[in-house]
Amino acid sequence: MSELGADLPRVRLAQLPTPVQDLPRLSTLLGRRVRIKRDDQTGLALGGNKTRKLELLLADAQTAGARTLVTGGAPQSNHCRQTAAAAAWAGLRCVLVLGGAPRPGGVGNLLLDNLLGAELVWAGDRSRDEALATTVAREVAAGHRPYLIPYGGSSPVGAAAYALALEELLAQGERPDVILFASSSGGTHAGLALGARALGFGGRIYGISIDQPAPALRQLVAELATQTAEYLGLPVTLGEQDIIVDDRFLGDGYGVMGSAERDAILLFARSEGLLLDPVYTGRAAAALIALARSGELAADKSLLFWHTGGAPALWAYSDDLIREL
Ligand SMILES: *Cc1c(COP(=O)(O)O)cnc(C)c1O
Repeated sequence: MSELGADLPRVRLAQLPTPVQDLPRLSTLLGRRVRIKRDDQTGLALGGNKTRKLELLLADAQTAGARTLVTGGAPQSNHCRQTAAAAAWAGLRCVLVLGGAPRPGGVGNLLLDNLLGAELVWAGDRSRDEALATTVAREVAAGHRPYLIPYGGSSPVGAAAYALALEELLAQGERPDVILFASSSGGTHAGLALGARALGFGGRIYGISIDQPAPALRQLVAELATQTAEYLGLPVTLGEQDIIVDDRFLGDGYGVMGSAERDAILLFARSEGLLLDPVYTGRAAAALIALARSGELAADKSLLFWHTGGAPALWAYSDDLIREL
C-alpha cells in the first residue's frame, strides 16, 4: 500500500506497476549492469511519463468541477497527446496550445492529438504563454470550465505522481545506485528526488537536462520538489544542492536530433528491441552510453534507466532517421 499518497485523489489511467527489466546485451556492451523501468508502457494512448501525472491532475480537475482540460507544448509534445487521451477517457473537452505556425494534417503526436479529438490552438507569432493565457480566458468566458495543466504536467499535483513512482520502484525490490532519466519541465525529476528523500532511498537521482542549463533546471526542480512536499504534507525541503542535473548533452537544443541521439536510438532498438524517442529518451540514453563508456559512472554501480516514453515522435523524424541508415 502507498505510504506517500494514500489519500490522494487519483483516477486509474495507468497500468501499474510498470515492469523493470534487464538489458543483457546493452549491459555487456557497456560493461556494467543496466536495468530499465518501462514507463513507456504506462498504457494510455501509447504511454509515457505523463500518464502518471495525469492520474492525479485529472482527479484534481474533476474535484474542481472542470469540463475542459487546457494545456500547451511543442507540436510533438507527448504531454499534449496524453492529455488529449485523458480528456477523451474522462469525457472532457481538451484544448491544446501548440507553439509556432499551424501544421496541417499531422504526423506522430500531432496526428494523435487530432485523432483524440483535441481542439488545437496555434500560438503563431504570439508566445506560447500568451496564447495559453488567452485560451484559458476564452474558455472561461464561454462557460467551458477549464482546468489549466502547466507544460509537462509539472505542477506539484503532477510531480507528486513521481514520488509515488519511486515508492513503486522500491516496492519492486529495486535499489539501483543510479537512476538516470530525461528531465525537462522538472516534474519527473522533482517527484523522484522528493520520493527518494522521503523514503530514505540513497541512490543518485541523475537527471539529464534536455533543454536548459543546469543551474536553471536545478532551481526549478528544487522549488517544485519543495512545493510537492507541501502538497503531500511531507515535512521536507529540497535545495539546489540536493538536485543532480547534467547539462552536457543539450546538443543543438530542444527537439533537434543529432548523431548522439540517433546512435542511442539505434543501439537500444538493435540490441534490445526497445524504442526510444528523438527528443527525450534518445538524449538521456546517449548520456548514459557516454557516461558508462568514459567510466564517469563507475562500472561497479548498478544503473537504472527510467524510460519515460516518447516513441510516437519517431514518425516526425523519419526522414532524418532513415537518411542515416
Ligand atoms: C515530458 C517528457 C520527459 C520529461 O519529463 P518532465 O517531467 O517534463 O521533466 C521525458 N521523456 C518524455 C518522453 C517526455 O514526454
